[in-house]
Amino acid sequence: MLKRINYSLFFVILIFGQFFAQDEGIYVPPQVKELYNNGTRSWDGKPGTDYWQNNSDYILKVELDPESGLVSGEGKIIYYNNSPDTLSKIVIRLYQDIFKASTPRDYGIKPEAFTDGIELERLVVNGEELDPDTAGYRSYTNYYLKMPAPALPKSKTEIQIAWNFKLSTKTLRMGKYREGGFFIAYWYPQIAVYDDVDGWDITEYTGSVEFYNDFNNYEVEITVPENYLIRATGEMLNANEILEPKIYDKYIRALESDSVIRIITVDDLDDGEITRYENNTWKYSAINVSDFTFACVKNYLWDGVSVIVDDKTGRRTFVDVLYREEDKNYDEGVYLSKLVVEDLSKNFPGWPFPYSHMTTFCNGSKRGGGMESPMMAVDGTHSNRTYLLSLLYHEIAHTYFPFYMGINERKYAWMDEGWATFLPKEFTHKIDSSYSHYMIPKYRYNAVLGKENNVPLMLLSKSVKGIPLYAINYGRAFFAYVALEELLGSDLFKIAMKEYISRWNNKHPLPYDFFFTFNDASGEDLSWFWKPWFYEFGYCDLGLEQNDEGDFIVKMIGNQPVPVEIKVVYDDGKEQIIKESTRVWKNGNKEFVLDIDENKKVSSIEIDVEKIPDYNSENNNLEFARQN
Ligand SMILES: [Zn+2]
Repeated sequence: MLKRINYSLFFVILIFGQFFAQDEGIYVPPQVKELYNNGTRSWDGKPGTDYWQNNSDYILKVELDPESGLVSGEGKIIYYNNSPDTLSKIVIRLYQDIFKASTPRDYGIKPEAFTDGIELERLVVNGEELDPDTAGYRSYTNYYLKMPAPALPKSKTEIQIAWNFKLSTKTLRMGKYREGGFFIAYWYPQIAVYDDVDGWDITEYTGSVEFYNDFNNYEVEITVPENYLIRATGEMLNANEILEPKIYDKYIRALESDSVIRIITVDDLDDGEITRYENNTWKYSAINVSDFTFACVKNYLWDGVSVIVDDKTGRRTFVDVLYREEDKNYDEGVYLSKLVVEDLSKNFPGWPFPYSHMTTFCNGSKRGGGMESPMMAVDGTHSNRTYLLSLLYHEIAHTYFPFYMGINERKYAWMDEGWATFLPKEFTHKIDSSYSHYMIPKYRYNAVLGKENNVPLMLLSKSVKGIPLYAINYGRAFFAYVALEELLGSDLFKIAMKEYISRWNNKHPLPYDFFFTFNDASGEDLSWFWKPWFYEFGYCDLGLEQNDEGDFIVKMIGNQPVPVEIKVVYDDGKEQIIKESTRVWKNGNKEFVLDIDENKKVSSIEIDVEKIPDYNSENNNLEFARQN
């Protein structure tokens, strides 16, 4: 019996695989189909047996002069070509060139904020000294290094490089936010991703298109003047040599402390004794992460706390926050961040936080807003505590998507922004029952709902720029995930999510890998759902009608399936709530009859649209005059 069940299950999976391979489910472009047929990816949603990805070791030294804003670096990059291809060039990203006057940008900046971009001072490839001006060519923000000898499959290339740039006076996801408040990202020559889909990623950095990085190892030495504290991606290796003992002791205690430790206090700042020497070189090391950034602060408070993220092993994550006394609500920042890390680890997705620390740097902006990088986040302030919690949560949630899951956000921003918008949903409401986390995504989606701008999520993000268009990656994706959760039920949804994370962490999943994994893990072909939400133009709109027989009909007037919640009020004043999951619209079903008590007279029927987008609010109510 057992054997037979297994066999038929296997048969079902086999049919499934063929089903997708034959193009009857979702659309897979022939170029991508080849990857599935050739084994770098698999039709059941798993990484293929021939899956590969390239990576680098970065051994870098960098100095930041807070006075002049000069950043100068040198070091070695060892690039591992694990692909089956011979590479005649290597694409290196020079992000700082976005500040050159001549570079196209998605945001306008004042001429005074222009810089000369990044200067390459030295370039040595596999021991051969090259002139950076002739060894390759520069497009706007990319450098195409022509290899003196091609990088063969399974080979490594050693690049020694020295560079410098001046910080722009404009902050764009990095820079100098205020006196003594620096966040340094996009700062080193970074080898672009070479993958099985496109080969080299040559997307230019224009401001709104964000991450797609290899998983690399970093050893970084950062030199800054006295009393500047550095918090960076990875492990802080020599804090004992740099920090004043009284600060260091508190830091060490905080690494294991379940309650908040104020590591640098107002009194410590008044004493002016944070670091021991005039110039300090901070050493950090990070293994298998998709970027390296650092906060560089002076006269900042520093709070830390530790949280057990994996009950099985007792593994802890250190959560810390850098802020100023005037940053509203930030005295609670580390406590709230701790709750977030705990919630992500233990509730949903219920996957232990994958890194050893999570640091938030407050940039002081009163307009809120934030930016993520592995183990590091930049956040503004909020006068409302729950809004701050929601912001902290969003940026910390990015740890999973795009960092741990290696998402190509340059093409599929909904694969990370949608999740970072979705993940705080339950928790913010739990902490503050008056707060609806649906409000902001709804605001973002409503900005495009029913308009030309509501384009399919599968359009590559780099071609979908500017507000409100880009907001589909937050708003539309959020509601797609909400509708998916309602469709599968929260248990199965979580199982599928964990399966997706387990298969693709530290790799680069494509949208199809996500779709196929959810199909596989839920045991159901969800193509009917993927198509309207991810592939098609359209919108959400439910409506109510009464037909000639007197039946009450709920209609899906738009094409994006959503869960249904309806309140029926009877003449006797009694209320009935009718709920249907997204499943009620399966396979193109466009209407259903409401199951109501026929022995009573109906006074009103209303579609509850608090948790769903709905284009036309005028068809959401039916009201009847009372009969007695
Ligand atoms: Zn985000």
